Amino acid sequence: MMELDSLYQEVILDHYRTPLHKGLSAEKDVQVHHNNPSCGDEITLNLIMKEGNVVDISWDGVGCSISMASASVMSDLLIGKPYSQAMVILNAFMELMQSKGQGLGDEDLLEDGVAFAGVSKFPARIKCALLGWMAFKDASTQVMA
Ligand code: ZN
Repeated sequence: MMELDSLYQEVILDHYRTPLHKGLSAEKDVQVHHNNPSCGDEITLNLIMKEGNVVDISWDGVGCSISMASASVMSDLLIGKPYSQAMVILNAFMELMQSKGQGLGDEDLLEDGVAFAGVSKFPARIKCALLGWMAFKDASTQVMA
């Protein structure tokens, strides 16, 4: 794995080994499929929203530890949040990924998501970390449209 802080590396590996909310729900408002050809990562995401709240996110996928762990963190962070707050969190994570290794991330907002801070030093891996988040953004935009 890349040179990441060892504590952060452990957080990522924990999510990779024991992913949260993995396994597609029977019900959904919308389903999206996204992939990251440069790494071979793929995700399918089911989203349920009600009255402007993110009620459920479930996902399935194959790919590298960064992509799968990030989808686990994303789903656990965003379920139960109002859509507006989910967008605040998503934007904070995107900003962290664009920080070229300089950002630390707001732990109050991003919780385990700060573990991916070091990924922003590796341009080839940023798409891995963003895959699940972009799938959520796509799905939620479709529901809110
Ligand atoms: Zn990847």
